[in-house]
Amino acid sequence: MSNADQFGELLEAYALGALDAPERAALEAHLATNCPECTAALAEARWLVSQLAYAAPDAAPSDMLRGRLMQIVRAEAAQETASAAREIRVARAAKPAVPYWMWAAAAALLVVAVYSTWTARKLQEQVYETNQRAIAELNSREKIEEELAAVRREASILADPGSFKIALATSQPDLAPMQANWSPQLGIVLSGRKIQPPAGDRVLQLWLIPKAEGSKPIPSQTVRPDANGNFVLLVATPPGAMEDTKALAVTEEPAGGSPLPTTPPTWVGTTASASPTR
Ligand SMILES: [Zn+2]
Repeated sequence: MSNADQFGELLEAYALGALDAPERAALEAHLATNCPECTAALAEARWLVSQLAYAAPDAAPSDMLRGRLMQIVRAEAAQETASAAREIRVARAAKPAVPYWMWAAAAALLVVAVYSTWTARKLQEQVYETNQRAIAELNSREKIEEELAAVRREASILADPGSFKIALATSQPDLAPMQANWSPQLGIVLSGRKIQPPAGDRVLQLWLIPKAEGSKPIPSQTVRPDANGNFVLLVATPPGAMEDTKALAVTEEPAGGSPLPTTPPTWVGTTASASPTR
């Protein structure tokens, strides 16, 4: 049988001197058997009681002990106020008197418990809110920095004296041409104006058509023009070199892009037609 189960909760009350006589007798009989669990638990309970005497906030009494303390405190308060109940007071006088420090400790304990629970919850909320705000700020700053870096890179490519301009013409009369600027060091900037956005969530995808015989188009990034039909696509690391590329092509593809074109190219520009940007 697990004695700890049977006596564990009584030990704290015993250490406080708050047990009824029958409970105390039963526990003392058991303690006389030198049960190691209960002996250790009693030592811990005595330590706890000594901590409670100073209402140390790090002492964590069980709910059972807390309940018992409050019972005692309430009974004591009832005694003080109910002057008519003298017989009860006489009857209770047979029990061991509640030490003054226990009353103070219980009151302090209650205050500490309520206050620290409230404070902890408040603090938790504040920490959570602060964290959320910091994460949001960090995310937006990262996003802004990424966008700034992209814009700087695009500007560098357009300003790079070593970069080339490639016009991507379209056979469709209702569509405007696109322009690519390709810097061997900094990558490709593909831009368009008044380009009707594809239907639904479909996208425009850039392809590098290799010079090598029989090789397939190399997929690059995708983009969707904004509501005005404008877009700027930065390809910082093109999937091929300009000298190995015959042409740049743009197709319409499902969202996320495709590994191979699923539609014929709508815009094409050959590297042979490339002219220095500046
Ligand atoms: Zn035991």
